[in-house]
Amino acid sequence: MTTSHRADLSAADIARFGAEPATSFAANLQTVRSRIAAACLRSGRSPDDVRLLPVTKTVPAPVLRYAFAAGIRDFGENKLQEARDKNAALADLDIRWCIIGHLQTNKVKYLVRFASEFHALDSFRLAEELNRRLEAQERDLDVFVQVNTSGEPSKYGLQPADVIPFVERLAEFPRLKPQGLMTLAIFSADVERVRTCFRLLRDLRDRAMAVHPALTQLSMGMSGDFEIAIEEGANVVRVGQAIFGARPTSDAHYWPGLIAPEPDQQ
Ligand SMILES: *Cc1c(COP(=O)(O)O)cnc(C)c1O
Repeated sequence: MTTSHRADLSAADIARFGAEPATSFAANLQTVRSRIAAACLRSGRSPDDVRLLPVTKTVPAPVLRYAFAAGIRDFGENKLQEARDKNAALADLDIRWCIIGHLQTNKVKYLVRFASEFHALDSFRLAEELNRRLEAQERDLDVFVQVNTSGEPSKYGLQPADVIPFVERLAEFPRLKPQGLMTLAIFSADVERVRTCFRLLRDLRDRAMAVHPALTQLSMGMSGDFEIAIEEGANVVRVGQAIFGARPTSDAHYWPGLIAPEPDQQ
């Protein structure tokens, strides 16, 4: 990208992302990729089995042009409206939008117009509405079934006991192409509690695959815990802050009811 494009950045963008965002994003990507590779090596896995899904929420659209310039093509967004606005602003770029956050059924009609993946399928109602709208668009959608593995009421997702009955009925929605299961681990400094969430998801995935063989993938792990997730079998890690820097907004905006952990627990 040429220097003239930097005129697109506001003073606030430059304060947050620096004057050379493509360079710093590329450097951060390299660091995250080598951490992924090291976690794979420790756990006897191939780095090819782990996909890095960069999470671009709160990064403004003009800055995302630099993320694209740094080589990122899959953009993970938690909120549909934010993703929609960015898709409109960046329509000239060949981006795969991956919606990773809770979706209200009344937003499904927007999602099916532009999203490539959806990681937060958590109800029959949503599956029905997605299938119906996808059918109208004559297209399919890759989906992950979200599971609440931490037992926290603030987290979205199916209860673990409901996963197998849910998966047994996925064939009723032929436009949905199930890829695997997704979770957010507990926000805790206690590594074993975090690990327990990831192990639970893996056990559920193994049982779900017996019912629906396409459910091979585990979407789990974020900036604070992706190495633990990889040790426990993650195939997709959703990483935002380790690539784009700390977010200025509270995560409670994305996870309603979240009680923020103490700073030293992050
Ligand atoms: C924001 C978000 C992430 C990434 O979190 P970071 O701390 O930025 O790595 C992962 N998954 C979901 C569902 C998110 O909303």
